[in-house]
Amino acid sequence: MLRNIIIKKKTILIVLAGLIVFGGLTALCLTAAITPAVASNGMTIVIDPGHGGIDGGVVGVNTGKKESDVNLGISLSLRHFLREAGYTVVMTRESDVDLAESGQPFKKSDMQARKKIIDDASPDFVLSVHQNSYPRKDISGAQVFYAPGSEQGKENANKVQSVLNGALSSDRVAKSGDYYILQCSGAPSLLVECGFLSNPTEEALLVTTEYQQKVAYALCTSIRMLLEGDIDPHEGAEHK
Ligand SMILES: [Zn+2]
Repeated sequence: MLRNIIIKKKTILIVLAGLIVFGGLTALCLTAAITPAVASNGMTIVIDPGHGGIDGGVVGVNTGKKESDVNLGISLSLRHFLREAGYTVVMTRESDVDLAESGQPFKKSDMQARKKIIDDASPDFVLSVHQNSYPRKDISGAQVFYAPGSEQGKENANKVQSVLNGALSSDRVAKSGDYYILQCSGAPSLLVECGFLSNPTEEALLVTTEYQQKVAYALCTSIRMLLEGDIDPHEGAEHK
């Protein structure tokens, strides 16, 4: 009998403890639910992490790391920073997949699917994220591309290039590039090759989460400069 009472007391204590923990968790959840989200600034960005799925893009000269994975890492981090700044972000992909329809010519089908996502989003800006590769291993640095003949594209690309040069210690000049993604929609679009996976030093940086976040923060700063106009251009140099 005494043993039963002790067991019952124990059971009551366990139930009480459970209720307290559950109550605490509920309170936490409710707090999270009522914490106001970042106010939307009304602008939408499409981030296009290049390649994916069976199309890995170029590969790291030492690590063999696929460009598609680096592109995705930087893009997901960029989405985080842009959301924190109030942007709505649409991704062409969020995992290691391609967008091609089976039975269709791969590259054409994959690119058309990306165009459809851009068209559906009616974005204020499109950024396609890639990594570079070159036969000479000493070539390095971030490189921004704009649509051939686009004066606005050139102006935007120069601004983004300038932020990237400051933040990532590169000294490259923005160039025009005949890329489908830059010309497939009416939205202002740029393509950035964040670095060279053929350069061992840059590759060692590009495969790390920390550096990917640094690149993403610089890209976020440059996009905000383009669309908001009052962002300190040196802000991107110090990723926190
Ligand atoms: Zn690429």
